[in-house]
Amino acid sequence: MFGTTMYAPGDVRHETVAEPIIEKPTDALIKLSASCICGSDLWPYRGANPITKPLRMGHEYCGVVVEVGAAVKTVKPGQFVVGSFVISDNICPHCRRGFQSSCEQREFMTGAQAQYARVPLADGTLLATEKPPAEDLIPSLLAVSDVLGTGWYAADAARVQPGSTVVVVGDGAVGLMGVLAAKQLGAARIIAMSRHKARQDLALDYGATDIVAERGDAGVARIKELTDRIGADSVLECVGTDESMKQALQVARPGSMIGYVGVPHGIQFDGASLFFTQVGMLGGPAPVRRFLPHLMELVLSRKINPGRVFDLALPLADVAEGYRAMDERRAIKTLLQV
Ligand SMILES: [Zn+2]
Repeated sequence: MFGTTMYAPGDVRHETVAEPIIEKPTDALIKLSASCICGSDLWPYRGANPITKPLRMGHEYCGVVVEVGAAVKTVKPGQFVVGSFVISDNICPHCRRGFQSSCEQREFMTGAQAQYARVPLADGTLLATEKPPAEDLIPSLLAVSDVLGTGWYAADAARVQPGSTVVVVGDGAVGLMGVLAAKQLGAARIIAMSRHKARQDLALDYGATDIVAERGDAGVARIKELTDRIGADSVLECVGTDESMKQALQVARPGSMIGYVGVPHGIQFDGASLFFTQVGMLGGPAPVRRFLPHLMELVLSRKINPGRVFDLALPLADVAEGYRAMDERRAIKTLLQV
């Protein structure tokens, strides 16, 4: 079968790879209905993470089960499933408390930019739909697997509530999903920080009430202006750089929460200034499994359309161009047709 391997920064190849097999009785094999490229795949692509061995890329997925191990009970061949990018058993103490992304048996999904993939701990990781979904819902169901689940977690961790004033730092796919989530959770005001027209437009469609194009001190000043000089009740940090985290801290009002889901690269905190800022922070890899039932239902009932975040669709064979398009910011997020 065909899959995607990253050999070095900028070197992503569509090539023949070994077909996955059932390795443990708790595994399932799925045939991907679609796959995609994640903003976090750009970290190694841009050389920000070292690549010590060839990487089998792809951790966002949905598809049809083709085979299950002997111990799998909740999904069976023929069913359409969506799973989290974090593999979890969904029964350990952390899972039971809703933090499946810190599961005692945690693994991170790999190898999903391919025709078939192996999903470990299938019972704890996958959720099946009652019947095969309509074809046009596939991009949105794929989005649930990571990008929507992560944006949703950012809003949940930032304690967005009905009536909240929310700032979203970052206009990548996760930031846009954060806007969608904040809207669904009842935020009254959603300020999206974005300098790109196409992303601003999508943010407005997803429920943003204000766009702030300025960054740094000018961005902070603009947000203070928009919030009666108080700052936001909830801030979603969806980038992961030192600059974006500082921006988040500076626009958060005392007593607010920051939900941070951008994988940190070079972020430094100063203890004393954090102390006097009086802001709460919760982040990390999103426990998508916690939100999976609700988000799949919102998609299947067509209440939300997160799939619009895919503004480029390419055949899996053109995966290298998909990476280039996202790297050069010609695309927000690339869907790969399998
Ligand atoms: Zn667990």
